[in-house]
Amino acid sequence: MTDFIIIGGGLSGLQAAHDLQEAGISCLILEARDRVGGKLWSLPLGPGKGYVELGGAWTNDVNQPKVTALVKKLGLEMVKQNIVGDCIMEDHGRFPYGSDPPLSQEEKVTFAEIRNRVEALCHTVKATELGQSLTKHGHMSMDEFVVSMGAGDIVRRLVNIWTAAMLGVESNQVSAVFFLHYCQAGGGLIQMRSDGRGGGQSMRFRHGSQSLCHGLRRGLKPDTVICSAPVQTIEQDLSNGCSVTTRDGRRFRSERIISTVPSVFLNQITFSPSLSADKCWLSAHSKLGFYAKVFLVYSKPWWRKLGLCGLAQGFSGPVALTRDASSDEDGLFALICFVVGQKGAEWAQQDAHDRLTEVIDHVERIYGANIPRPLETREQIWNEEEFSQGAPCPVVPASCLRSLSQDQWRPEGYIHFAGTETSTVWKGYMEGALVSGSRAAREIIDVLSTN
Ligand SMILES: Cc1cc2nc3c(=O)[nH]c(=O)nc-3n(C[C@H](O)[C@H](O)[C@H](O)COP(=O)(O)OP(=O)(O)OC[C@H]3O[C@@H](n4cnc5c(N)ncnc54)[C@H](O)[C@@H]3O)c2cc1C
Repeated sequence: MTDFIIIGGGLSGLQAAHDLQEAGISCLILEARDRVGGKLWSLPLGPGKGYVELGGAWTNDVNQPKVTALVKKLGLEMVKQNIVGDCIMEDHGRFPYGSDPPLSQEEKVTFAEIRNRVEALCHTVKATELGQSLTKHGHMSMDEFVVSMGAGDIVRRLVNIWTAAMLGVESNQVSAVFFLHYCQAGGGLIQMRSDGRGGGQSMRFRHGSQSLCHGLRRGLKPDTVICSAPVQTIEQDLSNGCSVTTRDGRRFRSERIISTVPSVFLNQITFSPSLSADKCWLSAHSKLGFYAKVFLVYSKPWWRKLGLCGLAQGFSGPVALTRDASSDEDGLFALICFVVGQKGAEWAQQDAHDRLTEVIDHVERIYGANIPRPLETREQIWNEEEFSQGAPCPVVPASCLRSLSQDQWRPEGYIHFAGTETSTVWKGYMEGALVSGSRAAREIIDVLSTN
């Protein structure tokens, strides 16, 4: 018996627990995995050898105030993303970071028009009015949207890299309206795509982003977190509050619950009474994209010697993007390869040896055959994780957007909902997770103060 139960010990659940305990309210976290962190998972390569970020990695200290405050509070060391040098666009050549990709003049104009249009439109849609935006912008996919603006093959491929890298889905698999909303939540497409100051990929954590979760957990009362406790049923009873049962039959009682379980798995938990139709609909129809990361660790940052920053866009193989993932202070020099979307899903069907060979071969095609072989590699396929099943944020189809009520994450009885996808700012990101955890805790604190 506890006052409140939080389901999920990712960043949002830990933040919710922190806020509740700070307000003097006792709570318990039930986490399915044997670790905290959820989609944040930082693997040490060895003592003093740096960390490999298997999940979320980047943040910034300009427009992500919750992450910034937590970084400061926990005294975490940050690494600035390297943007010195040229980028590469496969088969098209190199170009300075921040400038237009090497396209024909006509393609450059179309690409700039599309980027500017998406940027302008995304600032006009309201995150709380998904249904209304549909009436304005229709049911087009992102691909249809850019084709309607005159995009040819190469511009469509570049836009496809946006959706694949940001959501793990092809541009013809995501509604333009959903994508616009996603961009709006992150402060705009340009801000989200940027590796420069204030951009979505501006800074990394020297000792891994999961240190945010370990830090939050350390600040909680002892025994707040119970790991290896996947929740299977949640029952609500007006007179007795809530009862939660885990897969191994353990039973917990509490007054209220905060669920941080990603929406795509809500249907896998038995709720009694059942959740509202729009949450069930959301759970049944939202889809997580395909998302894998492959780290290639080298003895030296050879790309910098070639005047490159490590950012490259790939088309002919599984790798959609590479970025510099080094931690110079630790002597760790690495490229992170994003293997995402449909190509990624097909790549994942092969055995581990063939997967790695394909990635290394593709990186050689992008950068040139005479680059060194990696000393070490690490691979993480998020779709194979039972309690993530993809990343970073579920994509909601247009048909579903129309049917959802405006406040789709409102509490249902004694159950409150958090998790990065419920946030209206930086949805899908660490900042969104922290904001949502605090918002759900505030809902409970408010209920208690009015009772
Ligand atoms: C590959 C990848 C790259 C990313 N890149 C970035 C980035 O660069 N910057 C950024 O800001 N964000 C990034 N993200 C997103 C970021 O990691 C997430 O937004 C954030 O960690 C989500 O936190 P959360 O608490 O909302 O969800 P989660 O981390 O998913 O936490 C939910 C928790 O609930 C648990 N759970 C699920 N079902 C049950 C159940 N039935 N019972 C009990 N527990 C359950 C899960 O195990 C999990 O621990 C990335 C994510 C991935 C995977």
